[in-house]
Amino acid sequence: MKEYPTLVLYLETVRSRDRLKEKPHLLGMTSLELEELAELLGEPKFRGRQIAKWLYKHNATSLDEMTDLPLSLRERLKEATVLYRARIVNRSVSRDETTKLLLELEDGQTIESVLIPYEDRVSVCVSTQVGCVVRCIFCATGISGFARNLTAGEIVDEVLTCQKETARRVSHVVYMGMGEPLLNYENVLKSIQILNKEVGISMRHITISTIGITPQIRRLAEEKLQLTLAVSLHAPDDMLRRQIIPFAARYPLQDLIEACKEYAETTGRRITFEYLLIRNINDSISHARKLANLLKGMLCNVNLIPYNAVEGLELDRPSQARVRAFRSVLEESGITVTQRVERGHAISAACGQLRRRSQLPN
Ligand code: SAH
Ligand code: SF4
Repeated sequence: MKEYPTLVLYLETVRSRDRLKEKPHLLGMTSLELEELAELLGEPKFRGRQIAKWLYKHNATSLDEMTDLPLSLRERLKEATVLYRARIVNRSVSRDETTKLLLELEDGQTIESVLIPYEDRVSVCVSTQVGCVVRCIFCATGISGFARNLTAGEIVDEVLTCQKETARRVSHVVYMGMGEPLLNYENVLKSIQILNKEVGISMRHITISTIGITPQIRRLAEEKLQLTLAVSLHAPDDMLRRQIIPFAARYPLQDLIEACKEYAETTGRRITFEYLLIRNINDSISHARKLANLLKGMLCNVNLIPYNAVEGLELDRPSQARVRAFRSVLEESGITVTQRVERGHAISAACGQLRRRSQLPN
């Protein structure tokens, strides 16, 4: 995988004194970059690897914890760099132990991360942007508008902060929180690189969910990563899809499906299509038939997600019978269907909802 530079930033910082305010962040640097940083500070390379180990393996939150670094180096690092860790400003724990954190970033913006313990694994759902430009009609994140991209370090911080919430090891990461990962491509890819190589999360245990940014799917295919790609379809034809995802007008369905087929061929990985079911909008038998037709012969499976109520939105979730009927049509066409196991229902686990609640007047 390509290395994405942070060090360039550091070099610019040391070169120009008046830019010293923009100190480089340690979190978000790879071992290689930390080695270079150590050398720039006149230290042997291995100091960089030590720092990486403290950050990513020991989950250190301050330089003072890095006790095997000489005190003088720690002091210099404090002066020249930043080690910011997100602050937990709200924590909701549901009966099934799903824990949703509202995290405050350095600039005061807030994002959500969710820790989901299963019997056989522990998963973390991360945000990739503060808000989202796509503005799907069902999504609390979209309604709140868009503020900025998260840095690679901020995304990795979400996983590390969730790791502190549990005694078990976080084994899976899903990019399904606030924001559209493929509209923050470089930072998302760099965070994956760090989670995989430094934190030790297997590539096969990482899932990116995208609303379907066709050119970026083609770009991602070329990286040939063994991660799982999940594409949010939510409608079987362009007209309906544009009503649910106005932004989708830029990416016609046929071309998107074509890119998904290419992705599956290039990477050898099965694609997951996500389909959010909204009552009387996209949940009829004829929608299911159209969807089955669209996906005929593809290496894929479909994940059905019944709509979860968002305050202020006049949409409904379909009845269970309706979901079952929709599912049967797909299965009869030979498509593998999974239904999202709903976790943390009582704590509004669909991402963006906790943050939105914190922004609404009580
Ligand atoms: N932007 C990407 C990444 C995740 S979006 C994408 O859209 O694929 C957040 C996730 O939460 C998506 O899987 C979406 O389907 C789900 N979601 C958002 N609002 C929801 C709601 N009201 N009910 C149920 N799921 C919701
Ligand atoms: Fe953005 Fe995904 Fe929400 Fe749509 S569902 S507004 S793409 S975060």
